[in-house]
Amino acid sequence: MNYQTILDEIQQTTKGQAFGGEVASYIPELAKVDPHKFGMHLCSLEGGQYGVGDSEEKFSIQSIVKVLSLVFAIAKINYTNEVIWSRVQVEPSGNPFNSLVQIEYERGIPRNPFINAGALVIADILVSHCDDPKAEFIEFIRTLAHNANIHYNDTVAASEQKTGYRNRAVINLMKSFGNIKNKVDDVLSFYYYTCSLMMTCRELAQTFLFLTNQGITLPGKEVILTKSQSKRINALMQTCGFYDEAGEFSFRVGLPGKSGVGGGIVAVHPGSYSVAVWSPPLNAKGNSAKGMKALEMLTTKTGLSIF
Ligand code: GLN
Repeated sequence: MNYQTILDEIQQTTKGQAFGGEVASYIPELAKVDPHKFGMHLCSLEGGQYGVGDSEEKFSIQSIVKVLSLVFAIAKINYTNEVIWSRVQVEPSGNPFNSLVQIEYERGIPRNPFINAGALVIADILVSHCDDPKAEFIEFIRTLAHNANIHYNDTVAASEQKTGYRNRAVINLMKSFGNIKNKVDDVLSFYYYTCSLMMTCRELAQTFLFLTNQGITLPGKEVILTKSQSKRINALMQTCGFYDEAGEFSFRVGLPGKSGVGGGIVAVHPGSYSVAVWSPPLNAKGNSAKGMKALEMLTTKTGLSIF
């Protein structure tokens, strides 16, 4: 498969086209990002590296991190299934990522770990069981990425801390139902730091490669997840990775994936490749408009979706 030619074609075809969307502004620091940025990077299971555009520029990965936080909770803390899955469900939410409505009538148990409510519960679990959650988490990411040059962004984290009214409402509502065990401020602070991680498309694709390889990192061959756990993470990305647009992403792209309001999307094709794309303007559902189009073109041109 000539991945480089395909990525070049995607870049050429989409250049200058209008895909609509707005750069996220509810986190003031993200509103400063240049909307014209575009990068894409693909890692093949055989070790091939293919990139175009701004694929080596770092950006705020935001909700893409929710996958990595869940993997960390499952892999490193050696949790029994019950401890996690009694506190968060595995159902698509069909609602926006920051919605409050289901928390009320489902008595504080979020629909899945990839909406904000679910990710806050995972953050709470990590705060309970790590001596230094921030330090341990970034160490884990650096191992997955085979890269020590990955850092939190203090400015982005502080910016969201200041204006994150909705997350504060979400976490307080869950706390009222007993599903947050630690201090709200401690959990929120850790969550915002995880969302602020800065990574390039190349680093993201490399970090997610283990999910195309049944839970084993490449090239390091470190076992992060069992085959079954790896399958489950991919299943969750497929059904819940794009909130109330998960169906649309499956329909158009056909890969397990996860988006973030920084404009990044990661997707994996188990057995073939991992890919990351970055374009800051978001559609109405909070997913990168051009990023979705680029991935749709990738699976069409390669014929490699999971369906
Ligand atoms: N940090 C963002 C928030 O909590 C992440 C949301 C996202 O990327 N969808 O609102």
